[in-house]
Amino acid sequence: MRVTICGSRGSTPAPGPDTVRYGGHTSCVVLAHDGARPSLVLDAGTGIRRVTAMLGDTCFEGSIVLGHLHWDHTQGLPFFSAADRPGARTDFYMPAQGDAEEVLRRVMSPPHFPITPAELRGTWNFGALEPDIACDIEGFTVVAREIPHKGGRTFGFRISDGSATVAYLSDHCPTALGPGPDGLGEYHDAAMALAVDCDLLIHDAQYLDAELATRASFGHASCGYALHLAQRAGARRLLLYHHDPPRTDAEIDALVASYQGGPVAVDGAAEGMVIDLPGALPG
Ligand SMILES: [Zn+2]
Ligand SMILES: [Zn+2]
Repeated sequence: MRVTICGSRGSTPAPGPDTVRYGGHTSCVVLAHDGARPSLVLDAGTGIRRVTAMLGDTCFEGSIVLGHLHWDHTQGLPFFSAADRPGARTDFYMPAQGDAEEVLRRVMSPPHFPITPAELRGTWNFGALEPDIACDIEGFTVVAREIPHKGGRTFGFRISDGSATVAYLSDHCPTALGPGPDGLGEYHDAAMALAVDCDLLIHDAQYLDAELATRASFGHASCGYALHLAQRAGARRLLLYHHDPPRTDAEIDALVASYQGGPVAVDGAAEGMVIDLPGALPG
């Protein structure tokens, strides 16, 4: 499968000269089967606009799966023009919490936004995902697990195409379950089950370990937790993801450099990054 990072930032967009390499768009990752067009979108942050560019002049035909409904994961949705046009088909999934279209309408309707989900063009099917059940979505096997975050039901995902597996935990607050063995949060069953033996772990790395004491109550993980989870779970490769808005390219470079030499290949998720799985690890 091919994994493309379309938005790597957390919380709010962060454009500017200091974030141009890792990118300022909020969370969005798109998956494609080998040689096929992108068909499975994880989260609809502002980075989803890049998917339209990837599709050229063609309509989107695929699924969007949201891990939760915070702004940085939904606000790109009405700007996904490859899906908002006649002839497009989108199956849209969110963690089960009532009628999915109605729940989305709460963030996407006047006076907050000029149109409602029903006014998007093309064919839209709104559905709810339940955790702990393997689902076939666009030919990928998707398993959701509920993970701790803050302010709304949140899922992480484990996605396989039969030859490679990606784990995606964009927003994760493991300290909500306790300090864990190293003070960075619990390496709990859901996180381990999602990440075990995966080819690629894309994980919340919003805080530095030293920032946890003052910031963990906002609902995210630290870079060190992401690294240790990857190591414990036997992940082959880790992408630090959901970068803190003020985190500069130089600061992310330094973090990544400090994590080299261990058993897991570590990189910072950067807008436009393309990873083919299973593939050779970066040299
Ligand atoms: Zn987020
Ligand atoms: Zn969130």
